[in-house]
Amino acid sequence: MAAGELSGRDPATEYRRDRRRLVERLRDRGVSDLAVLHAFDIVPRHAFVPEVMRTRAYEDVPLPVGHGQTISSPTIHALSLEQARIGPGDRVLEVGTGTGFQTALLAALGAAVYSIERIAALYEAAVQTLRRLGVEARLMHGDGSRGWPRHAPFRAIIVGAAAARPPEPLFDQLAEGGRLIVPVGTRRQELRRYTRRGDDFARETITGARFVPLVEGEARGRGPE
Ligand code: SAH
Repeated sequence: MAAGELSGRDPATEYRRDRRRLVERLRDRGVSDLAVLHAFDIVPRHAFVPEVMRTRAYEDVPLPVGHGQTISSPTIHALSLEQARIGPGDRVLEVGTGTGFQTALLAALGAAVYSIERIAALYEAAVQTLRRLGVEARLMHGDGSRGWPRHAPFRAIIVGAAAARPPEPLFDQLAEGGRLIVPVGTRRQELRRYTRRGDDFARETITGARFVPLVEGEARGRGPE
């Protein structure tokens, strides 16, 4: 018998209710894309955060996920996905898999997802969580700032960590009309959208942000990180 049953509470029902509340909050924050809201309604964020954080899984806050990394707040994920305008069948590159939560949101939107994570332990944990939930995505351990040339071009590229300047290869790997969503800056950051028009990239600011840094260069193994 699960602990929830003993106390007369059903955790699955509670999570579902919390999730509904989160979707309402995202609406209040101005997220209007129905497909994005639906994705938040069906992807269990609690399954991606560390056990001790589960009770806070549906709060609209970033949470620590170990290895000095954080999962972004639901609002930031929702705005990124909305601005990326992802449709079924779109090939999408995610840089910084982290827990795999946003990977699952992308899959729920019907995207063909390619995702790269630099920290081996996070990569391995994300592979397992996504497999357990039956989410289809291609994951790679490595430096995502180089993109994934073999599968380019991408309709959208979403970067989950901030760089002083967006990495050049990511622009090269955008399809015509494709969108690059990327946080830029060090202390003060903004989340930007670049849209490809030939060799030009129209730039817009989505919101202010605070992301962990994008670490460019060799991916690290399973060391003390
Ligand atoms: N959106 C994610 C959270 C991303 S946190 C989620 O839903 O959980 C940012 C992630 O980017 C971290 O896991 C960090 O290790 C990773 N990262 C940082 N630099 C990277 C790089 N150059 N290539 C790939 N991943 C990187």
